[in-house]
Amino acid sequence: MDQDMNLPEDLKRVVAFHGHFCPGILVGWRAARLAMRLLDAERDRDEQLVAVTENDACGVDAIQYLLGCTFGKGNLVFRDYGKHAYTVFRRSDGKGVRLVYRPAGRELTREESARRLLEEEDDVLFAVGAPREPMPDRAVIRTSAVCDICGETAMETRIHPLEDGRMACVPCREALRRSH
Ligand SMILES: [Zn+2]
Ligand SMILES: [Zn+2]
Repeated sequence: MDQDMNLPEDLKRVVAFHGHFCPGILVGWRAARLAMRLLDAERDRDEQLVAVTENDACGVDAIQYLLGCTFGKGNLVFRDYGKHAYTVFRRSDGKGVRLVYRPAGRELTREESARRLLEEEDDVLFAVGAPREPMPDRAVIRTSAVCDICGETAMETRIHPLEDGRMACVPCREALRRSH
């Protein structure tokens, strides 16, 4: 795909972050911009926004980069539905929007697809609806615990008791299960 197209500045930065130029990153870029406009929001700094992504493909990188809703910060929730759909909430008043990408009605080449995503109106590209789920809770700092098998520390919620009462982390528990 032609990287020399005159891309908007924010898109260039998204593409640099993502690593390549692709239709998926364009969908995410449009979704992030539309969500910011609908919610009158700027890039998140401290969990003013929370996003629910219904896929784990290219577009999510634009959501993370532009909205500041990131996996690491805990204000990005992944639902493994395989849909090009993103829900974004504004914490201050709980307002949220769910954006569902509308594919073109026919097969497009990569170039046609990119042009469509760069040029079409928001309402052609996305169906805007109400969130399908309540606003996720804020990320909480979890206490940690030590695995009795490997001695490594893990989030307390990821350490579970074995039948003999020892506490085990997820990989240790799976390794024990496989060896039986
Ligand atoms: Zn990509
Ligand atoms: Zn362990």
